[in-house]
Order: sequence, then C-alpha cells, then structure tokens
Amino acid sequence: MRFMVCLKPVPEPGSVKVDPETHTLKRESAALVLNPADRYALEAAVELKEKIGAEVVAAMMGPLNAAPLLKEAYACGADKVFLLSDRAFAGADTLATSYVLSLAARKLGPFEAIFCGKVSIDGETAQVGPELAAWLEWPSVIWVKEIIPDENSWKLVRATDEGEEVLEVKLPVLMTIEPESNDPRPPSIKRLLEIMDQEIPTLSASELEADPSLLGLGGSPTRVVEIFSPTYEGKREFLEGPPEETVDRLISILKERGLI
Ligand SMILES: Cc1cc2nc3c(=O)[nH]c(=O)nc-3n(C[C@H](O)[C@H](O)[C@H](O)COP(=O)(O)OP(=O)(O)OC[C@H]3O[C@@H](n4cnc5c(N)ncnc54)[C@H](O)[C@@H]3O)c2cc1C
Repeated sequence: MRFMVCLKPVPEPGSVKVDPETHTLKRESAALVLNPADRYALEAAVELKEKIGAEVVAAMMGPLNAAPLLKEAYACGADKVFLLSDRAFAGADTLATSYVLSLAARKLGPFEAIFCGKVSIDGETAQVGPELAAWLEWPSVIWVKEIIPDENSWKLVRATDEGEEVLEVKLPVLMTIEPESNDPRPPSIKRLLEIMDQEIPTLSASELEADPSLLGLGGSPTRVVEIFSPTYEGKREFLEGPPEETVDRLISILKERGLI
C-alpha cells in the first residue's frame, strides 16, 4: 500500500504581507509553518501505515523556503517527502493548486489513499482535497475521524454536523481528516538527524509535465478583487428618562433594527 499526504506550508500568523498591486499574499516575506490541520492527516496516514504496512509519501506545493517543513514531516513518520516548487505555481488558487497536487499523485503514485487536512488556516476554503479527488476521478470523503481498513474497501467514520456517518469505500480514496481525531506525534530526534543534512527532492512544472495554462495566477479562475481589514466601530447610545419610557424606547429600537 502507498499513501500520499498533502501538506500545506502556511504563513505564521502575524507575519503576512499583501501585495497592494496584485492583492496576492507575499508568501516569500512570511515565516512558514506546517498547516496545523495537516498534522492530523499525516498522523492518520502514519498510524495506518503502522497498522497495515504502507509507504507514506508527503507532498507539499510551496516555495523553496518551505523545505524544512518536509524534514519535520519526515521526522513525524513520512517515508518520502517531495516539494513541488516552481515560479509558475505562484498565485495559484485552489483549482491550480489541486491540479499540481494531482500531477504529483500521478508522478509519485500509484497510491491507494490520499490524506489531506480538513482546511488551511490561511486560504480556509477546504476545497483542495475534494478538487484533487476530482482531477484524479477518485471518490473523496471529508471530515474522516476513523479508518477501519479491510482488504479492498475501507470503513470510514466521518463527522457530520449532526453526529457521525459510517461509509464503506473502495480504494483508491481521498480523505480529509478531522482535526482532533488523533494525537499527532512529536518529531523524532533520530529521524530529524537522519534527514537534517539531506536535500529535499523538488519537482518543477516541467518535471511534473504540467500544462502551463493551468498553473499559477494564469490558471486560476479566482480573482481577488479587494483585500481589507474589517473595522468595527462601537457606537453607544444612552437612553434617559423614567424606566417605563426607557424600556419602551429600547424595545422599539431593537425592533427597528430587526434584533427582536
Ligand atoms: C480568495 C482567495 C485568494 C487567494 N489569494 C492567494 C494569493 O494571493 N496568493 C497565494 O499564494 N494564495 C492565495 N490563495 C490561496 C490559495 O488558493 C491557496 O494557497 C491554495 O489554493 C490552497 O487553498 P486553501 O488554502 O483554501 O486550502 P484548503 O483547501 O483549505 O486546504 C485543505 C487541504 O488541502 C491540502 N493543501 C492545500 N494547499 C496545499 C499545498 N500548497 N500543498 C499541499 N497540500 C495542500 C492540505 O492537506 C490542506 O489541509 C487565495 C485563496 C482564495 C480563496
């Protein structure tokens, strides 16, 4: 069995700058960390590997300075790690990102399962996993809490807004893993030392045999029209007078504003 885990490098909160011209994030200026939800995806893959035997391949689309995060992933149990990096990937929206990940899945595969995080803490769309499954024409199951493996079909327990669902799926399958469904292990010092001086293998657009028209900003149908910080203005209004009148006035104000 072979599993792919998709790991996203995200800007460390508080270190992000926005390009005022293109409205895109200046990712090269930010310190990067592993997307928190992806730790649960990696742990789910590694725990399953330990249970049934498998190779875990971690893939990350990101800038070259994201490479140390893949060393961390190796130290947390990934067997192989790959950085997908090319200037042509810059400004990718979820469609262009999932396209690149699908090329990696084809190039580095075959895989029986792909593990993604539930959502990223920066883009926060939760679209990349299901879109990657669509590129590969695989089924996808989101919010998976537990995997009960069998020969060719797995039972997946998934969280829903109301409770839980148990699904039976044939492999291959893509899953997004529900955070808090496991307890991600800390990096092993031994594995960290093993990989510390090694160069992380990088795959470029041409090595992935990508169609240039589907990459980066040009291959992204999403357009960021404007980015702004919301401002919250607190307004106070004092109601004065006898209590009965004040209460009546308060009730009519709340009704006017549709609050009651
Ligand atoms: C309106 C909008 C504007 C954006 N503007 C910019 C921008 O200016 N510049 C820019 O660089 N990006 C921008 N993005 C973000 C870009 O779309 C995302 O970096 C990327 O497409 C992933 O989407 P997401 O963050 O919503 O991930 P989600 O779909 O929330 O991620 C779910 C899971 O998919 C996997 N995944 C996601 N991304 C990767 C990755 N890169 N490598 C490996 N696995 C991954 C992870 O397992 C992750 O947990 C923008 C997104 C939106 C919606």
